[in-house]
Amino acid sequence: VEFEHCGFPETLNHNLKNSGYEVPTPIQMQMIPVGLLGRDIVASADTGSGKTAAFLLPVIMKVLKETETPSALILAPTRELAIQIERQAKELMAGLPNMRAVLLVGGLPLPPQLHRLKQSVKVDTMLKMGFQQQVLDILEDISHDHQTILVSATIPVGIENLANQLLHNFVRITI
Ligand code: AMP
Repeated sequence: VEFEHCGFPETLNHNLKNSGYEVPTPIQMQMIPVGLLGRDIVASADTGSGKTAAFLLPVIMKVLKETETPSALILAPTRELAIQIERQAKELMAGLPNMRAVLLVGGLPLPPQLHRLKQSVKVDTMLKMGFQQQVLDILEDISHDHQTILVSATIPVGIENLANQLLHNFVRITI
């Protein structure tokens, strides 16, 4: 798989080059085609493997076709990770039509965050959602017809069970 063969719009290919992404990493080679098909994914990949772009690229391609806002929600367990994901999302989404991402984090005043969320945002990055009950509550509130991509360095038994309960016929990818 090459980035140029993924059917990305010109702007996105340009953004990849600008970020120094010439060749997809192994996790990207495996996750991008499956993600683009709209399949649910459970992937384990280490830090530094390029896993962020591996899920962001299919998310961006899906969101480009959506009119509903917000149309993608990214949950991350730490502030640092949420900030890194938002930075990569903004880099990759630059210049694409009607694409906005907003970072929502705990410990900062809520009103400005809610204000940004109301401005027809397409991609949310949230923090401190490491708790199963919170994730379950969110999944109950969002549309049933959604694609779920779960990425972690390790997939403990509890998460595997959660995935079996909540994801739909998912593809398991391990690097
Ligand atoms: P991650 O594992 O998602 O935290 O990514 C680790 C680092 O690799 C980040 O700084 C990315 O910007 C970078 N990266 C991701 N994919 C590629 C790629 N295909 N080529 C070069 N660098 C990449």
